[in-house]
Amino acid sequence: MHKDIATPVRTREILDKYGFSFKKSLGQNFLIDTNILNRIVDHANLTDSSAAIEVGPGIGALTEQLARRSKKVMAFEIDQRLLPILADTLSPYPNVKVIHQDILKADVQQYINEELAGIDDIMVVANLPYYVTTPILMKLLEEKLPIRGIVGMLQKEVADRLAAKPGTKEYGSLSIAVQYYTVAETVMIVPKTVFIPQPNVDSAVIRLTVREKPAVIVKDEHFFFQVTRASFAQRRKTILNNLTSQLPNGKQNKEQIISALREVEIDESRRGETLSIEEFGRLSDALYPIFN
Ligand code: SAM
Repeated sequence: MHKDIATPVRTREILDKYGFSFKKSLGQNFLIDTNILNRIVDHANLTDSSAAIEVGPGIGALTEQLARRSKKVMAFEIDQRLLPILADTLSPYPNVKVIHQDILKADVQQYINEELAGIDDIMVVANLPYYVTTPILMKLLEEKLPIRGIVGMLQKEVADRLAAKPGTKEYGSLSIAVQYYTVAETVMIVPKTVFIPQPNVDSAVIRLTVREKPAVIVKDEHFFFQVTRASFAQRRKTILNNLTSQLPNGKQNKEQIISALREVEIDESRRGETLSIEEFGRLSDALYPIFN
Protein backbone atom coordinates (compact mmCIF):
# COMPACT_ATOMS: atom_id res chain seq x y z
CA MET A 1 0.00 0.00 0.00
CA HIS A 2 1.32 3.44 -0.91
CA LYS A 3 1.49 6.35 1.51
CA ASP A 4 -1.82 8.27 1.53
CA ILE A 5 -1.90 11.56 -0.35
CA ALA A 6 -4.41 13.00 2.11
CA THR A 7 -2.22 13.74 5.10
CA PRO A 8 -1.15 17.28 5.97
CA VAL A 9 2.53 16.38 5.58
CA ARG A 10 2.29 14.58 2.23
CA THR A 11 -0.09 17.21 0.80
CA ARG A 12 2.33 19.99 1.76
CA GLU A 13 5.22 18.03 0.20
CA ILE A 14 3.31 17.64 -3.08
CA LEU A 15 2.25 21.30 -3.17
CA ASP A 16 5.81 22.45 -2.45
CA LYS A 17 7.38 20.10 -4.99
CA TYR A 18 5.26 21.61 -7.76
CA GLY A 19 5.04 25.16 -6.39
CA PHE A 20 1.26 24.87 -6.58
CA SER A 21 -0.84 27.85 -5.49
CA PHE A 22 -4.56 27.46 -4.81
CA LYS A 23 -7.08 29.17 -7.06
CA LYS A 24 -10.02 30.34 -5.01
CA SER A 25 -11.96 30.96 -8.22
CA LEU A 26 -11.85 27.20 -8.93
CA GLY A 27 -13.10 26.25 -5.46
CA GLN A 28 -9.82 24.56 -4.57
CA ASN A 29 -10.04 23.27 -1.00
CA PHE A 30 -8.21 19.97 -0.75
CA LEU A 31 -8.95 17.26 1.79
CA ILE A 32 -6.14 16.30 4.14
CA ASP A 33 -7.87 13.72 6.33
CA THR A 34 -7.82 10.08 5.23
CA ASN A 35 -10.37 9.13 7.84
CA ILE A 36 -12.94 11.57 6.43
CA LEU A 37 -12.16 10.42 2.89
CA ASN A 38 -12.74 6.82 3.82
CA ARG A 39 -16.05 7.66 5.42
CA ILE A 40 -17.13 9.55 2.27
CA VAL A 41 -16.23 6.54 0.13
CA ASP A 42 -18.08 4.21 2.56
CA HIS A 43 -21.28 6.13 1.81
CA ALA A 44 -20.91 5.30 -1.90
CA ASN A 45 -21.12 1.53 -1.21
CA LEU A 46 -18.64 0.68 -3.96
CA THR A 47 -17.54 -2.84 -4.78
CA ASP A 48 -14.59 -4.02 -6.81
CA SER A 49 -16.83 -4.15 -9.87
CA SER A 50 -18.05 -0.54 -9.47
CA ALA A 51 -16.84 2.56 -11.26
CA ALA A 52 -16.51 5.99 -9.71
CA ILE A 53 -16.75 9.28 -11.55
CA GLU A 54 -14.99 12.10 -9.74
CA VAL A 55 -15.40 15.82 -10.35
CA GLY A 56 -12.24 17.77 -9.54
CA PRO A 57 -9.56 15.35 -8.31
CA GLY A 58 -7.24 18.16 -7.13
CA ILE A 59 -3.98 16.39 -6.25
CA GLY A 60 -5.72 13.02 -6.04
CA ALA A 61 -6.63 12.70 -2.35
CA LEU A 62 -10.08 11.21 -2.94
CA THR A 63 -9.17 9.68 -6.30
CA GLU A 64 -6.64 7.45 -4.60
CA GLN A 65 -9.16 6.07 -2.09
CA LEU A 66 -11.67 5.50 -4.91
CA ALA A 67 -9.03 3.71 -6.99
CA ARG A 68 -8.34 1.34 -4.10
CA ARG A 69 -12.00 0.52 -3.65
CA SER A 70 -13.41 0.28 -7.17
CA LYS A 71 -12.65 -1.16 -10.57
CA LYS A 72 -12.17 2.10 -12.42
CA VAL A 73 -12.12 5.82 -11.67
CA MET A 74 -12.77 8.52 -14.23
CA ALA A 75 -11.92 12.00 -12.93
CA PHE A 76 -12.65 15.36 -14.62
CA GLU A 77 -10.26 18.18 -13.72
CA ILE A 78 -10.50 21.69 -15.17
CA ASP A 79 -7.11 23.02 -13.91
CA GLN A 80 -4.32 22.17 -16.32
CA ARG A 81 -1.68 22.81 -13.62
CA LEU A 82 -2.92 19.74 -11.75
CA LEU A 83 -2.40 17.27 -14.60
CA PRO A 84 1.34 16.65 -14.13
CA ILE A 85 0.80 16.46 -10.37
CA LEU A 86 -1.96 13.86 -10.78
CA ALA A 87 0.17 11.88 -13.23
CA ASP A 88 2.76 11.68 -10.46
CA THR A 89 0.57 11.11 -7.36
CA LEU A 90 -1.73 8.60 -9.06
CA SER A 91 1.00 6.68 -10.89
CA PRO A 92 0.48 3.63 -8.61
CA TYR A 93 -3.16 3.36 -9.78
CA PRO A 94 -3.51 2.19 -13.39
CA ASN A 95 -7.31 2.07 -13.00
CA VAL A 96 -7.59 5.89 -12.94
CA LYS A 97 -8.34 7.96 -16.02
CA VAL A 98 -7.95 11.72 -15.58
CA ILE A 99 -9.77 13.83 -18.15
CA HIS A 100 -8.79 17.47 -18.56
CA GLN A 101 -12.23 19.04 -18.99
CA ASP A 102 -14.69 21.39 -17.40
CA ILE A 103 -17.34 18.96 -16.14
CA LEU A 104 -20.06 21.42 -17.17
CA LYS A 105 -18.91 21.20 -20.78
CA ALA A 106 -18.00 17.53 -20.89
CA ASP A 107 -20.07 14.94 -22.73
CA VAL A 108 -20.11 12.64 -19.71
CA GLN A 109 -22.30 9.99 -21.35
CA GLN A 110 -19.80 9.69 -24.19
CA TYR A 111 -16.94 9.27 -21.70
CA ILE A 112 -18.94 6.62 -19.85
CA ASN A 113 -19.42 4.74 -23.12
CA GLU A 114 -15.72 4.94 -23.88
CA GLU A 115 -14.12 4.46 -20.48
CA LEU A 116 -16.63 2.52 -18.40
CA ALA A 117 -18.05 0.07 -20.95
CA GLY A 118 -19.26 -3.13 -19.32
CA ILE A 119 -19.44 -1.64 -15.81
CA ASP A 120 -22.99 -1.74 -14.45
CA ASP A 121 -22.57 0.09 -11.18
CA ILE A 122 -21.44 3.71 -11.47
CA MET A 123 -21.35 6.27 -8.65
CA VAL A 124 -20.30 9.90 -8.77
CA VAL A 125 -18.15 10.69 -5.74
CA ALA A 126 -16.70 14.17 -5.34
CA ASN A 127 -15.52 16.93 -3.09
CA LEU A 128 -17.24 19.51 -5.25
CA PRO A 129 -15.96 22.98 -6.17
CA TYR A 130 -18.39 25.10 -4.15
CA TYR A 131 -18.77 27.90 -6.72
CA VAL A 132 -20.56 25.53 -9.12
CA THR A 133 -22.08 22.85 -6.88
CA THR A 134 -25.67 23.22 -8.04
CA PRO A 135 -25.03 23.44 -11.81
CA ILE A 136 -22.82 20.34 -11.58
CA LEU A 137 -25.41 18.31 -9.66
CA MET A 138 -28.24 19.42 -11.94
CA LYS A 139 -26.24 18.63 -15.07
CA LEU A 140 -25.44 15.12 -13.85
CA LEU A 141 -29.09 14.47 -12.95
CA GLU A 142 -30.77 16.13 -15.94
CA GLU A 143 -28.60 14.23 -18.39
CA LYS A 144 -30.08 11.02 -16.98
CA LEU A 145 -26.71 9.33 -16.88
CA PRO A 146 -26.62 5.62 -16.01
CA ILE A 147 -25.44 6.29 -12.43
CA ARG A 148 -26.66 4.77 -9.15
CA GLY A 149 -26.18 8.05 -7.36
CA ILE A 150 -23.94 10.87 -6.21
CA VAL A 151 -22.02 11.22 -2.95
CA GLY A 152 -20.80 14.79 -2.79
CA MET A 153 -19.16 17.17 -0.37
CA LEU A 154 -20.74 20.60 -0.59
CA GLN A 155 -21.68 23.64 1.46
CA LYS A 156 -23.86 22.56 4.39
CA GLU A 157 -26.34 25.28 3.51
CA VAL A 158 -26.80 23.78 0.01
CA ALA A 159 -27.06 20.25 1.44
CA ASP A 160 -29.86 21.50 3.71
CA ARG A 161 -31.72 22.87 0.70
CA LEU A 162 -31.28 19.71 -1.39
CA ALA A 163 -32.61 17.42 1.35
CA ALA A 164 -35.30 19.82 2.66
CA LYS A 165 -38.83 18.67 3.38
CA PRO A 166 -42.01 20.69 2.64
CA GLY A 167 -42.87 23.32 5.22
CA THR A 168 -39.26 24.20 6.09
CA LYS A 169 -37.50 27.41 5.16
CA GLU A 170 -34.86 25.50 3.20
CA TYR A 171 -37.46 23.84 0.95
CA GLY A 172 -37.60 25.32 -2.54
CA SER A 173 -37.48 24.61 -6.26
CA LEU A 174 -33.93 23.20 -5.89
CA SER A 175 -35.14 20.65 -3.30
CA ILE A 176 -37.87 19.59 -5.71
CA ALA A 177 -35.59 19.44 -8.75
CA VAL A 178 -33.17 17.13 -6.90
CA GLN A 179 -35.80 15.04 -5.11
CA TYR A 180 -37.66 14.55 -8.38
CA TYR A 181 -34.72 12.48 -9.63
CA THR A 182 -33.25 11.18 -6.36
CA VAL A 183 -33.68 10.37 -2.70
CA ALA A 184 -31.54 12.99 -0.94
CA GLU A 185 -29.96 12.56 2.50
CA THR A 186 -27.25 14.42 4.38
CA VAL A 187 -24.90 11.71 5.62
CA MET A 188 -22.05 13.69 7.21
CA ILE A 189 -21.27 17.11 8.62
CA VAL A 190 -17.62 17.95 8.01
CA PRO A 191 -15.45 20.38 9.99
CA LYS A 192 -13.46 23.09 8.19
CA THR A 193 -10.21 21.77 9.68
CA VAL A 194 -9.97 18.81 7.27
CA PHE A 195 -9.35 21.09 4.27
CA ILE A 196 -6.41 23.09 3.06
CA PRO A 197 -7.02 25.98 2.67
CA GLN A 198 -10.01 25.98 5.04
CA PRO A 199 -13.26 27.09 3.37
CA ASN A 200 -15.27 29.98 4.83
CA VAL A 201 -18.46 27.93 5.05
CA ASP A 202 -19.49 24.73 6.82
CA SER A 203 -19.50 21.56 4.75
CA ALA A 204 -21.61 18.43 4.54
CA VAL A 205 -21.72 15.26 2.50
CA ILE A 206 -24.94 14.49 0.70
CA ARG A 207 -25.98 11.21 -0.85
CA LEU A 208 -28.37 11.35 -3.79
CA THR A 209 -29.70 7.93 -4.78
CA VAL A 210 -31.19 7.99 -8.27
CA ARG A 211 -34.81 6.80 -8.33
CA GLU A 212 -35.86 4.11 -10.78
CA LYS A 213 -38.75 6.35 -11.75
CA PRO A 214 -39.08 10.07 -10.97
CA ALA A 215 -40.84 10.92 -7.68
CA VAL A 216 -43.94 11.94 -9.66
CA ILE A 217 -44.94 11.11 -13.20
CA VAL A 218 -45.95 14.31 -15.00
CA LYS A 219 -47.20 15.19 -18.49
CA ASP A 220 -44.27 17.50 -19.17
CA GLU A 221 -41.11 17.62 -17.08
CA HIS A 222 -40.02 21.01 -18.34
CA PHE A 223 -43.38 22.57 -17.49
CA PHE A 224 -43.38 20.88 -14.05
CA PHE A 225 -40.07 22.60 -13.23
CA GLN A 226 -41.39 25.87 -14.62
CA VAL A 227 -44.40 25.64 -12.28
CA THR A 228 -42.25 24.83 -9.23
CA ARG A 229 -39.86 27.70 -9.93
CA ALA A 230 -42.79 30.07 -10.43
CA SER A 231 -44.38 28.93 -7.15
CA PHE A 232 -41.29 29.89 -5.15
CA ALA A 233 -40.49 33.11 -7.00
CA GLN A 234 -41.58 35.21 -4.03
CA ARG A 235 -41.73 33.07 -0.94
CA ARG A 236 -44.11 35.31 0.97
CA LYS A 237 -46.69 35.34 -1.82
CA THR A 238 -49.50 32.78 -2.14
CA ILE A 239 -49.30 30.06 -4.73
CA LEU A 240 -52.01 31.83 -6.75
CA ASN A 241 -50.16 35.15 -6.76
CA ASN A 242 -46.89 33.56 -7.77
CA LEU A 243 -48.45 31.54 -10.58
CA THR A 244 -50.35 34.51 -12.01
CA SER A 245 -47.34 36.81 -11.85
CA GLN A 246 -44.70 34.32 -13.00
CA LEU A 247 -46.25 32.11 -15.67
CA PRO A 248 -46.45 33.60 -19.17
CA ASN A 249 -49.85 35.32 -19.56
CA GLY A 250 -50.61 34.25 -16.01
CA LYS A 251 -52.66 37.34 -15.25
CA GLN A 252 -54.98 36.83 -18.22
CA ASN A 253 -55.42 33.21 -17.18
CA LYS A 254 -56.11 33.88 -13.52
CA GLU A 255 -59.61 32.34 -13.52
CA GLN A 256 -58.34 29.19 -15.17
CA ILE A 257 -55.49 28.94 -12.67
CA ILE A 258 -58.01 29.20 -9.84
CA SER A 259 -60.06 26.39 -11.41
CA ALA A 260 -56.95 24.21 -11.81
CA LEU A 261 -56.04 24.75 -8.13
CA ARG A 262 -59.60 23.76 -7.13
CA GLU A 263 -59.51 20.71 -9.39
CA VAL A 264 -56.45 19.36 -7.55
CA GLU A 265 -57.72 20.54 -4.15
CA ILE A 266 -54.92 22.97 -3.41
CA ASP A 267 -56.07 26.04 -1.51
CA GLU A 268 -55.11 29.13 -3.51
CA SER A 269 -53.94 30.91 -0.35
CA ARG A 270 -51.26 28.32 0.45
CA ARG A 271 -47.59 29.15 -0.08
CA GLY A 272 -45.43 27.14 -2.45
CA GLU A 273 -43.22 25.95 0.39
CA THR A 274 -46.11 23.89 1.85
CA LEU A 275 -46.73 21.83 -1.29
CA SER A 276 -45.34 18.32 -1.57
CA ILE A 277 -43.70 17.14 -4.76
CA GLU A 278 -46.81 15.03 -5.53
CA GLU A 279 -49.00 18.13 -5.17
CA PHE A 280 -46.73 20.04 -7.55
CA GLY A 281 -47.04 17.13 -9.98
CA ARG A 282 -50.85 17.18 -9.89
CA LEU A 283 -50.88 20.97 -10.13
CA SER A 284 -48.58 21.15 -13.12
CA ASP A 285 -50.65 18.51 -14.96
CA ALA A 286 -53.84 20.51 -14.25
CA LEU A 287 -52.20 23.76 -15.46
CA TYR A 288 -50.60 22.15 -18.49
CA PRO A 289 -53.57 22.48 -20.92
CA ILE A 290 -53.90 26.19 -20.05
CA PHE A 291 -50.32 27.04 -20.94
CA ASN A 292 -49.51 24.60 -23.71
N1 SAM B 1 -10.86 16.11 -4.85
C1 SAM B 1 -9.86 16.99 -4.29
C2 SAM B 1 -9.85 16.85 -2.79
O1 SAM B 1 -10.87 16.38 -2.25
O2 SAM B 1 -8.86 17.19 -2.17
C3 SAM B 1 -10.08 18.45 -4.70
C4 SAM B 1 -11.44 19.03 -4.39
S1 SAM B 1 -11.57 20.78 -4.65
C5 SAM B 1 -12.89 21.18 -3.54
C6 SAM B 1 -12.40 20.97 -6.22
C7 SAM B 1 -11.64 20.55 -7.46
O3 SAM B 1 -12.49 20.75 -8.61
C8 SAM B 1 -10.38 21.33 -7.75
O4 SAM B 1 -9.37 20.44 -8.11
C9 SAM B 1 -10.74 22.23 -8.95
O5 SAM B 1 -9.65 22.57 -9.76
C10 SAM B 1 -11.74 21.36 -9.66
N2 SAM B 1 -12.73 22.06 -10.49
C11 SAM B 1 -13.26 23.29 -10.30
N3 SAM B 1 -14.17 23.56 -11.24
C12 SAM B 1 -14.26 22.48 -12.05
C13 SAM B 1 -15.02 22.16 -13.22
N4 SAM B 1 -15.91 23.03 -13.72
N5 SAM B 1 -14.83 20.96 -13.82
C14 SAM B 1 -13.93 20.08 -13.30
N6 SAM B 1 -13.17 20.33 -12.21
C15 SAM B 1 -13.34 21.50 -11.58
